[in-house]
Amino acid sequence: MSINLLDFDAKGLTGFCAEIGEKPFRARQLLRWIHQAGEADFDAMSDLAKGLREKLSAAAVIEPPKVISDHTASDGTRKWLLSVGAGNGIETVYIPETSRGTLCVSSQVGCALACAFCSTGRQGFNRNLTVAEIIGQLWWANKALAETFKSEAGRERPVTNIVMMGMGEPLTNFENVVTALDLMLDDNAYGLSRRRVTVSTSGIVPAMDRLRERCPVALAVSLHAPNDTLRDQLVPINRKYPIRELLAACERYLQSAPRDFITFEYVMLDGVNDSVAQARELVRLVRDIPCKLNLIPFNPFPDSGFRRSSANAVSRFRNVLMEAGLVTTVRKTRGDDIAAACGQLAGKVLDKTRRIHRSIAEAAG
Ligand code: SAH
Ligand code: SF4
Repeated sequence: MSINLLDFDAKGLTGFCAEIGEKPFRARQLLRWIHQAGEADFDAMSDLAKGLREKLSAAAVIEPPKVISDHTASDGTRKWLLSVGAGNGIETVYIPETSRGTLCVSSQVGCALACAFCSTGRQGFNRNLTVAEIIGQLWWANKALAETFKSEAGRERPVTNIVMMGMGEPLTNFENVVTALDLMLDDNAYGLSRRRVTVSTSGIVPAMDRLRERCPVALAVSLHAPNDTLRDQLVPINRKYPIRELLAACERYLQSAPRDFITFEYVMLDGVNDSVAQARELVRLVRDIPCKLNLIPFNPFPDSGFRRSSANAVSRFRNVLMEAGLVTTVRKTRGDDIAAACGQLAGKVLDKTRRIHRSIAEAAG
């Protein structure tokens, strides 16, 4: 198998260049060609000598995941299904807004953590994505969007923000996710600021500490319940890392975080976690932590067993939080007509007979 240069961040590319007898500045040139120009063909890299281009072609490829389908919803949300081989698919979603464009990136095929309300979790875990497959989502989106984006004023690039909120739990694919984050932040690649790159986690406490040390980007934590009894049911990883430990990890994270708050995500499930009493319990739980609350109306999928909270229930819940002084937003559901909303992402080409069920402990280890 050839070396795929999309698997390397600056450090990895420098190592690769050393191995083929090239100077470190070549790594910088390659980074720019690959990630800024979106070039996958060595022959088009005009400032590299012909001999070097031949050497690169012999030693390596630049191979992003292949696009199987490309849909645009009526609200402009765009979703790509990318093939990652062996019948597996992953989804990437682009959400355009007036002053920014957010790409929702996947980190795994399936997910082992089996949250009760999540369609990806229902598929079970298949495998971690490689760095090339993670960064390839951004590489592809930038390229695909470049054409249509030219007409829009006000910002330079189509993708200004990244949220690791697609399929999978990013912190159980730690090394590959961090290498991809390095590329997102690298000025020779995508040059995004740490504040505009968000990792969302269901609460893998030791990995949150490692992320704080290695690559502190903005952090979103999927809380979804105001106490351990309910969270144990909804987010099973809570049995291993209960709320008290999770909140302590959030406080530690804040010491290095690029933003001075943690975002808590809270999916609104009718009759399960959306009562006024639960809102008050949530206030008591998080009021001492600098945070913002993001309420996500549940996105249904077949046989989920849950219903979306009513608009009234969501606004009652939000009012309790806001009256207690907590900054609270309700996430607008986007891309409904193409099943691109949170928790609806599921590679439709997934061969379910190949899924591997791993225990929570193993996934978190
Ligand atoms: N594994 C990570 C990131 C991916 S999920 C995590 O759990 O944080 C991104 C967000 O979508 C999480 O907050 C997740 O709980 C939420 N989510 C999952 N299924 C959902 C659904 N059906 N409706 C609404 N939000 C959902
Ligand atoms: Fe995995 Fe996140 Fe879905 Fe839970 S909500 S099953 S951690 S992708």
